[in-house]
Amino acid sequence: MGSRAPSAPLQSKLRQVSFELLAECPHTRARAGVLHTPHGDIETPVFMPVGTQATVKGLTQRDLAEELGAQIILANTYHLFLRPGHELIRKLGGLHRFMSWPNAVLTDSGGFQVFSLSGLRKISDRGVVFQSHLDGSSHTFTPESTVDVQLAFGSDILMVLDECPEYPVSHEYARESMHRTVRWAKQANDHFRSRIVESPTRHALFPIVQGSMFPDLRRECAAALVDLDADGYAVGGLSVGEPRPLSLEMVEATEDLLPRDRPRYAMGVGMPAELPEYVARGIDMMDCVLPSRNARNGYLFTSAGRVIIKHARYRDDERPLDEKCRCYTCKSYSRAYLRHLFQSGEILYAVLATRHNIRRYLDIMRGIRHAIISKSFPEYLKCVRAAAADVD
Ligand SMILES: [Zn+2]
Repeated sequence: MGSRAPSAPLQSKLRQVSFELLAECPHTRARAGVLHTPHGDIETPVFMPVGTQATVKGLTQRDLAEELGAQIILANTYHLFLRPGHELIRKLGGLHRFMSWPNAVLTDSGGFQVFSLSGLRKISDRGVVFQSHLDGSSHTFTPESTVDVQLAFGSDILMVLDECPEYPVSHEYARESMHRTVRWAKQANDHFRSRIVESPTRHALFPIVQGSMFPDLRRECAAALVDLDADGYAVGGLSVGEPRPLSLEMVEATEDLLPRDRPRYAMGVGMPAELPEYVARGIDMMDCVLPSRNARNGYLFTSAGRVIIKHARYRDDERPLDEKCRCYTCKSYSRAYLRHLFQSGEILYAVLATRHNIRRYLDIMRGIRHAIISKSFPEYLKCVRAAAADVD
């Protein structure tokens, strides 16, 4: 095994978004590469901070791009479709210009939020009719319409509309739902291809492997989606309340069926110690609200484990949050000050905490990538597992 030749130049030219594999770990399925997009190159494996409302809460775009080095962020189609609306964003020059973000953007299809947030919803083979969680108004997402919405945003990477079943569901329901997801992916893919033929801008559309927690359905779904010859593939339906080992098992069930020269994206994962576990199973891209949401709730991730900042023991703790971290928060402030801001409900707390947590996630990914390229990923993984066992 070892390093692999990059994809052929001809193929890269034809592809809207191309993936270059730089190194593979000979002992695990881990890979390091570069994802080339119209808004810059993305070093993989990558963690994508979540900017639900076209903002990563508490951070400026300059913080994200320049200080933290985020090369791609995720934005949510469901939320931006409802408010301010995709037509407005298109009119204002697309999402990159609207939010003044120079790097790449991936948008989800909105499916996950329709199933988890909206009130009444009705699924048919045509799509899903749902009620806005904001004002109760009725809307329809179809495989084609969610492609149109994401093209109006100008997203670099679009996701197909999928059905994300809750956990647990019966094998029968999971199969029916998975077949619908495959049909929707084909429709979305056909529509996407017809739209981009005339488009002056470049984009990629990723289909999503579903099948709940049934390996046979996951494999059937992956095999069907590979026929679409997409620029990348996602594994969805994870982090829906299943035990953690099961999520990893579903990735394992799928990974060998997905083309090796395309990026694989595990949606909505995970905790810091899980990031290298997904990478070890062949995942190149991940996203999760945990670093930003937990930061705001007082839960901080450090190189020595978690810090619950409200704990009394930090009241007069003069040390930086994480002695090994080089973020602005850790360079400038004490745990005592952060705790004071948190206890006082100050806005600055959320700003400083988010900045650190996102930096921690991005640093972890940089460490993983470095380990893969320098052929020390198995040792890296061993250390992470030992540390995680210590904490638990
Ligand atoms: Zn820090």
